[in-house]
Amino acid sequence: MSENQKFFPNYTVGPDAYDAIETVCSRYGTKAVAIGGKRALAAAKPALEKALKNSSIEIIAYEWYGGEASLENSEMLMNLDSYKQADMVFAFGGGKAIDTCKYASLISGKPFFTFPTIAATCAPASAEAIMYYPNGVARDTYECHKPAIHVFINTDIIAKAPDVYLWAGIGDTMAKHFETSLAARGRNDLSFTQALGVEVGTMCYRPLVQYGAKALEDCKADHTSEELEQIALTNIITTGIVSGCVGVTINSNIAHALCYGLTVLHQIEKNHLHGEVVSYCTLVLLMIDGQMDKVDELYPLYKAIKLPTKLADLEVTRDELGPVVEKMLSVDDIKYVPYKVTEEMVYNAIDALEEYNKAH
Ligand SMILES: [Zn+2]
Repeated sequence: MSENQKFFPNYTVGPDAYDAIETVCSRYGTKAVAIGGKRALAAAKPALEKALKNSSIEIIAYEWYGGEASLENSEMLMNLDSYKQADMVFAFGGGKAIDTCKYASLISGKPFFTFPTIAATCAPASAEAIMYYPNGVARDTYECHKPAIHVFINTDIIAKAPDVYLWAGIGDTMAKHFETSLAARGRNDLSFTQALGVEVGTMCYRPLVQYGAKALEDCKADHTSEELEQIALTNIITTGIVSGCVGVTINSNIAHALCYGLTVLHQIEKNHLHGEVVSYCTLVLLMIDGQMDKVDELYPLYKAIKLPTKLADLEVTRDELGPVVEKMLSVDDIKYVPYKVTEEMVYNAIDALEEYNKAH
């Protein structure tokens, strides 16, 4: 696909989002196969059936995606009779189930729609499929060129999902503005699409500061709201647009590099979610880069919604940081910072953040 073609995600949002299925999908046929995680399918089925009751679209089968975003599961799905008979694929879940269907759609060419049941990642709106080996080890990211044709964001279902996903989603989304704006700093070689993505990136943090705490409260209480809708759109759509526009050299740097560094620690892998770890690492990025005004702006939100602001929040001690910083400075992401990040800078930033916590 040529560089000058760009496909953006389309979406419908709100508690009645599924009512738009008929209008959006009927031009692609009448038979859909619903694929997803077990919890996701169970959560979405009643609303889906209600919305399709008097429509021309029929769900011919509900299929489990297999439990891992693997090429093997994509293959397994494509071999199902229901998949072969379906005119289109409806993918339900957060990340892995959706990416499994995305990859299958890349190979099979079946029209593909996403129905996020949590608001944790941009997978429902992105054109990349992050794939794993059947044993769960990361395999590769596959460029699918186009996102799903349409994203149906039912905020009632997202409100009723465990709030921890929304929480971690906020943490991961927050990083995107600070990483993309840092990577783009001083670069005058950005394409139109990359520059557009960097500008859209500011929307990865402003709504979070404004609506994040209330949205999380509403998610805990299982009810949808304007604020929850804002955050669902931020976590799913804005991140999808930004990632899709900016490309790897802009998409991530200090925060994700440190997050990958921290994953060498057993307790991080075992007890902490990606977005949670990334949110701490964003504060370290701001410290390294001297953006104290942003630390001051974000800190109250972090405290209000209990995102980690210091090492102890992640069960990490300073003397465990050796291999963490070593790994951090070895991953590709760190190359996209406009200056050289040294070990000393990382330690100083972490220490300064510890002091900041004591003073606030
Ligand atoms: Zn991330």
